[in-house]
Amino acid sequence: MGFLKFQVKSKDNKARTGHLKLKHGIIETPSLIPVATKATVKALTPEDLNELGAEILICNTYHLMLQPNADIISKLGGLHKFMNWDKPLVTDSGGFQAFSLGLGKEHAVGKMYFPGENYKKSKPQGKSIAKINDKGIYFRSIYDNSRKLLSPEKSIEIQEKLGADMILVLDECTSPLSDKEYTEKSLERTHNWAKKGIEIHNTDQAIVGIVQGGHWEDLRKRSAEYINSLDFDSYAIGGSLGKSKKDMHNVLEWVIPLLSENKPRHLLGIGVVEDIFASVERGVDLFDCVSPTRIARSGFSHIRPPLGTKKNKFRMKISSITYRTDKKPLDPNCKCKVCRNYTRAYINHLFKTNELLGYNLISFHNLFFMLELMREIRQSIDECSLQKLKIKWLG
Ligand SMILES: [Zn+2]
Repeated sequence: MGFLKFQVKSKDNKARTGHLKLKHGIIETPSLIPVATKATVKALTPEDLNELGAEILICNTYHLMLQPNADIISKLGGLHKFMNWDKPLVTDSGGFQAFSLGLGKEHAVGKMYFPGENYKKSKPQGKSIAKINDKGIYFRSIYDNSRKLLSPEKSIEIQEKLGADMILVLDECTSPLSDKEYTEKSLERTHNWAKKGIEIHNTDQAIVGIVQGGHWEDLRKRSAEYINSLDFDSYAIGGSLGKSKKDMHNVLEWVIPLLSENKPRHLLGIGVVEDIFASVERGVDLFDCVSPTRIARSGFSHIRPPLGTKKNKFRMKISSITYRTDKKPLDPNCKCKVCRNYTRAYINHLFKTNELLGYNLISFHNLFFMLELMREIRQSIDECSLQKLKIKWLG
C-alpha cells in the first residue's frame, strides 16, 4: 500500500465528492487530470497550470522510458523536479500506448468505436509495432526503432524511478473490435500482470489496479471482483468501452458497485463534457483526457452552452473567418485571464499567422473551462443538484 488517503465528502445519488490526499498534495474530486504526455502539458508552463487551478497531472511512462529515459529523470531528482511541478503526479503504465501502437493502429480505432450514421472510419495506420505475450509488450521505439520489452515488473520499476505520487500496473488494453475470446484471454494476462505488479511494488507511491474486460458483462464483473480483491490503493477502469455510449454506461454500471466504496475510481482516457456527466453520476472520481489541449492546437476553443452550435455544442473554431473582427473574448462567460485580456479577432489572427502564442492562449482557456466545469460539478454534488447542472449543460 502506498501513501493515499481518500475521504468521501458528500453524495448525490451515486455521484460523490471527495478529498484525495497524495504525497504532494490534496485533490478535490471528481477531478479531470490534465495530460502531460512527455512531462509537459502541451503549450502550457507549470506556472500557467498553477494559475488555472490544476491540482494534478498525468505523464506517460512509454514516452518517458524512451526519451530521455527513467534513469536520467531519476538522476535529475525525479519527475516532479525534472518538470518543475510540485503538486501530485500520476504515471500510466504504458499499456495504453501498446494498444495504440498495436491493435489500435491495426483496427484504426480508439477506446470507443461508433459505427453510426456520421462515422467516418479512419484509415488503418499501418502495421502494428507492438506484440503482446504473457511476458509483456514487445515494441519498437518510435524514436530510434530499437526493440524494447515492457513487462509488468519493468513498468513498475520504471515508474518507481520516475517517482510520481500514483502509478498504474501494466494492463493489456483491448480494442472495441477484439472478439470475446481474445478479450477473455487478454483479461487473464492483465490479472496476472496486476498481481505481479502489486507484489514487486516497493515504494510509498500509491498503486492503481486496472479493470479490463471490454464491453462484456461477465468479463467486466469478473475483472472488477478480481482486481478489487488485490490490495490496490485505487482502481481504474481501462480498455475498450464498446461501440456506443450505452456500452460505456453499462461498463460503469457493472464495474463500479464491485469496487471498494472508500477508494477512488479513475475512468482512463475519457473526458469530454457529456461523458464526464454520465460517468460522475455513476460514481467516477477521476478522469484524464488530452482533448482540451489537443483541440486547442487545431484551433477549437471551448464555449459554454447555449453559445455553441447544434453540431458543436461546447466548441467553436476560432480560426474561422467569422471571428476575424470579433471583439468578444473566446467565451464571454469565462473568467480566465485569456478571456479577460484577448479578443477572438486577435486569437484568430494568431492562428492565421501560425503564431505560437495562439496555442498557449486557447490551451489555457480550454483547460480552465474544463476545470471550472469540474468545480461546478463538485459544488452541485455538495448541494445535491447534479441533475439540475446536467440539464443546464446538456439540455
Ligand atoms: Zn477563458
